[in-house]
This record gives sequence, structure tokens and C-alpha cells, in this order.
Amino acid sequence: MLKIKQKEFWFIVGSQSLYGEEALKEVENHAMEMAEKLNQSGNLAYPIQFKSLATSADEITAIMKEINYQDKVAGVITWMHTFSPAKMWITGTKLLQKPLLHLVTQYNQEVPWSTIDMDFMNLNQSAHGDREYGFINARLKKNNKTVVGYWKNEDIQQEISDWMNVAIGFCYSSQLKVARFGDNMRHVAVTEGDKVEAQIQFGWTVDYYGIGDLVAVMNGVTEDEINRTYQEYQTLYDFEIGNNDPNYFEEHVKEQAKIEIGLRRFLENGGYTAFTTNFEDLHGMKQLPGLAVQRLNAEGYGFAGEGDWKTAALDRLMKVMANNEQTGFMEDYTYDLTTGAERIIGSHMLEVDPTLAANKPKIVVHPLGIGNKEDPARLIFDGAAGEGIVVSMLDLGTHYRLLVNAISTVTSENETPHLPVAKVIWEPKPNFKDGIKSWIQAGGGHHTVLSLSLSVNQIADWSKMVELETVIIQ
Ligand code: MN
Repeated sequence: MLKIKQKEFWFIVGSQSLYGEEALKEVENHAMEMAEKLNQSGNLAYPIQFKSLATSADEITAIMKEINYQDKVAGVITWMHTFSPAKMWITGTKLLQKPLLHLVTQYNQEVPWSTIDMDFMNLNQSAHGDREYGFINARLKKNNKTVVGYWKNEDIQQEISDWMNVAIGFCYSSQLKVARFGDNMRHVAVTEGDKVEAQIQFGWTVDYYGIGDLVAVMNGVTEDEINRTYQEYQTLYDFEIGNNDPNYFEEHVKEQAKIEIGLRRFLENGGYTAFTTNFEDLHGMKQLPGLAVQRLNAEGYGFAGEGDWKTAALDRLMKVMANNEQTGFMEDYTYDLTTGAERIIGSHMLEVDPTLAANKPKIVVHPLGIGNKEDPARLIFDGAAGEGIVVSMLDLGTHYRLLVNAISTVTSENETPHLPVAKVIWEPKPNFKDGIKSWIQAGGGHHTVLSLSLSVNQIADWSKMVELETVIIQ
């Protein structure tokens, strides 16, 4: 997996000086205990650091500025132990440029009915403080997440952790760089988009290169490097030589190894973590990149075919949020309209992401009419079964729109001996007919990112952070 720098989240606890030093000390002790126990739970994807009590506008402003400035901080979690007058939150909250989660909880799970008095009520008035604080976030349009429930409960910790992964994606998005080898496929509409707007709204840098720039790097790849990568293939994958001459097979697999090494080198040199190719622009290439793309997908690089930089960037972003588990580029290909078992078969002409595989992938060398090049090597496998989502982004001219469809992927029941590509089969929700109708009427494209790791809620959290119009079909 491509490395992401270590990140943490800061925990700020709202109160006010009116309560007196003794009460504030207790609030602080509770806050420290909560941070410690949440970290010890093992349920959070990233650590939280208790930073300070927020009892004045100056304190809050100073800490929000620090959160913006510190690269290691990916977001802030706030909790109102007591009432915390929200006018003092205005300046700092306005300045905050990172994701914000308001944790609506209370130190004690249960009320001590036989001993409860006004001192207890004044010290534990989250219900009161949450509303004052929530109001100012709503008024400032902070697009913050709100998580409600007892902080020791696993489902609450899971909600916080899911949001953390999204917040990491949000922070990462501003550094995301896509290399495009060739332009968009000629005549295709849905893969187009406004790259300047994408950089303003999502932070994505999208750079064009001629395929010859990649070929030049590929030509610097040594035989030794190719042989080492080929040996790695032998340990990881089955080889299905089929009717090919074994030498022909090896030569064609090694060509993909050469593309893989060249691509990785090119992307590393430029700081790119996502890329596109286009079969209409392959000058100097012997094969369309297939296995090479799949190998880079397995490492965490985002990808989409036919110059589709929007989906390539989204793929990388979702891989970051999913820790590269079961998340990859997908294309709606063919319907199975069998009554009562209607499904979509997803695939691509070569480049299906092996993180989606249910079984050990096998390498196959097979002719490919598209691109008019030599027979490309590719990995073939069946997709894993599970609950997940497909996500597509489109440019409507006035703004971007994101589509999310909840899906269930199913295990393939049939052998497909003549299909030389990997495939994933799924049923859209709420059902085949309504799911597809909603998708098409909202303008959803054929290129998507499919994830069996991320949830609809996580994608909705991200789109809220970047103020992106979102259509959810579930
Ligand atoms: Mn395609």
C-alpha cells in the first residue's frame, strides 16, 4: 500500500470559566480519561490527542489556527462536557479548515438517580451544551459530522473511526495528483470535466502527458528489473499459458512487467498517485497496459481508463479512505436480465482491480482488438461477494454531482471460459429496476469506483465536506 503519513485527531472539550477551577479540573480529568480509553479501545483508525479545555474565545481561536497549521492533524473532535457559550467559538470555528466532528455524548452513561443534585447537573450538562454549540456550527455552515451516543459503545467508536478515514481522505485530496497519458477517449461525454473547478473544489491536480513520455522511462527499465518482477508474479499468481507458446507467453507477460516498472517510476518521480491511459494513444507501446495497471492498483494507485481523470482521482481517494481494501475502478458492462435474478456484470477490457478478487488471480495472455496492439497480459479473477457501493462523479456544466448506489456483489454461479477478463457481478439497491432507473436519470456514468469496504454514509460525509451535490440510491 502506498504510504500515507501518520496522522492524528485533536480532541477539544468545551466548557467555560464560570464553573470554577475545581469543576474545570474534573472536566479536564474526564476529557483525558476519554481520550485515553478511546485510544486504548483499538477501535479508532487513528489516535486522538486531548489538547485543551475550551473556556475562552482566545483559546479556541489559537487551537483552531494550530490545527490548520499542523500537517499531522487531520481533523478535530469536539465534545461539550458542560455549557460552552457559542459566541466564543465563532472566530476559531470560522478559521477551521479541517474536518470537524461534534461528539454528542456524556461522561456518565447512567444518571445516579439516588444522589443526583444540582452540582451533578451543572457539571454534566452535555444535552444543554450540545444545542448551543450545534447552533453555531449550523449557522456557520460548517458541514460538520455529528455522532450521538455513549462514547464507550463500540458502534459509536466505529462511527468515529469511519469518519476519521473520510477525514484523512479529505486532507489527502488536496495533494492528490493525477497523471493522464493521453486525453479523454474521443467522442465520449461523461468522462469530460472542468479540471480547474475540480482543483478548486477537491484539490486535485490533473496533468497531461504524451504516452511517449512514459515510453521514454520504460526504455530505461533493465532486464534484471523485469526478471525480478516476473519472479514476483510467479509467487503471487497462477499462470494460464493456454494455447500460447510458453516463450510467447513469457515474453508478453514480461512486457507488462516493463510497463509496470516504467509506470511506477514515472508516477513516483512526479508525485502522482493516480493515472489514466487511453487505448487511442499508444505510440511506442507494444501492449495496452493491463497487468501493469492491475499491479499498481494492488499497491493503492488510483486508475481509470480512457483518460477518465475524475474516476482515477476518485479511485485513489476512496482507496485512501478504505486503506486500499476491496476498492477499485469498475465499469458497468452487461446486464443479466434473468427474471428475479437481474444483475449487472462489471468489468473492463483488462484493468480490473485485484483488491476486489475472491480468488487467486491468474495471468492470461489473450488477443485484444481494441488498441490494435500485441496480445496484452492481464489478471483474471472473480469478484468477491459482499455489501458495498458504486460511486460516479459527473460534471453538469454548472457544478459537479456525485452518485452513490448501494449494491450487493454476488459470487459468479457460472464458469465463463471464453471471457478473458476479471469480472464483478452485483445487484443494485433498492432493486435492479429502480436502482438503475435512478442512476441513469441522475446522469450516472459507466465508469465508477466500486468498494466493498466503504459505506454510503462515508461517501456522504466526504461529499458534505467538499460541498458536493450528491444523489444517494439505496
Ligand atoms: Mn472504460
